[in-house]
Amino acid sequence: MSILSKDISKAVALLNAEEIVAIPTETVYGLAGNIYSEKAITSIFETKQRPFFNPLIVHIPSVDNLGEIVDYIPEKAKLLAETFWPGPLTLVLKKKNTIPLLITAGKDTVAVRVPNHPTTLKLLRQLDFPLAAPSANPFSSISPTTAEHVETYFKDKIKMVLDGGACASGIESTIVGFENDEPIIYRLGSTAIEDIEVIVGKIEIKNSKEIAPDAPGMLERHYAPKTKTLLTDNIINVVNEHMDKRIGVITYRSKIENANIKEQVVLSKSGDLAESASKLYDALHQLDKMQLDIIIAEKFPDFGLGKSINDRLLRATK
Ligand code: AMP
Ligand code: MG
Repeated sequence: MSILSKDISKAVALLNAEEIVAIPTETVYGLAGNIYSEKAITSIFETKQRPFFNPLIVHIPSVDNLGEIVDYIPEKAKLLAETFWPGPLTLVLKKKNTIPLLITAGKDTVAVRVPNHPTTLKLLRQLDFPLAAPSANPFSSISPTTAEHVETYFKDKIKMVLDGGACASGIESTIVGFENDEPIIYRLGSTAIEDIEVIVGKIEIKNSKEIAPDAPGMLERHYAPKTKTLLTDNIINVVNEHMDKRIGVITYRSKIENANIKEQVVLSKSGDLAESASKLYDALHQLDKMQLDIIIAEKFPDFGLGKSINDRLLRATK
């Protein structure tokens, strides 16, 4: 029997019983559990095979709940929350004592956001506790952007995927931490850095090994298909260098004519970066199923969501 269901009350019952449920968000599907249940949180880590040093994001129904999670909110964090929530922006702030260390991997900070998905907002409003929800995929594999992706990964391991359709944004949230009350980007993601800078001014990116493994999304190899993957700004040449191989190609807006290409995905014919981001992981899932020798991806323009797409593609090549 399928584990996919649209029944929110069934998800509520399972979560109240300390079980875990996969839930839709606008970024990717999450594997969710009650942040105060040691049983549920341990089960999230075990199901994903996620190392315990990787902290989880806490999901709340409204900015009004932020005070229940964190101790202190810098002025710029308040501005960002008011501007982007509900939405794909995660804030890392000083945690309240009541937030279990299992969630934060022993740190005194906690990552928190309000997801922008109607089903999951309804679910969160029906619960008396926030949900911890890392992406619903085995550690370091491609993130799931449809309920079916989650089912393929976990059908024998979890009882339910709350089906909310395909994720609209399609890559993980942008993570912002604070040092001396000033915001710093810890992970590029579905909220473009330029949009954040409009609100808080120029912002530094520490999206590298500098703070890894503080944020697992920063590990060098992540979001990775099983098939060897390359990222290039000269796709024609790289395709020509692999003529003896079964090649899969991911391009931004135009198709490449080459007889050796077995499968090709154009992410946005109209050149829309948001559309490209929403389709990126599904393209990787599809190509990874095709017994190709190699996946060759084209570099995206280095601004807006193009920067976030390049970040994910680069990690997929490691
Ligand atoms: P995922 O939910 O799988 O997309 O991963 C959650 C992201 O949030 C990871 O990159 C975490 O390391 C990051 N994160 C969660 N809590 C913290 C924290 N206290 N400090 C820094 N990063 C965090
Ligand atoms: Mg993840």
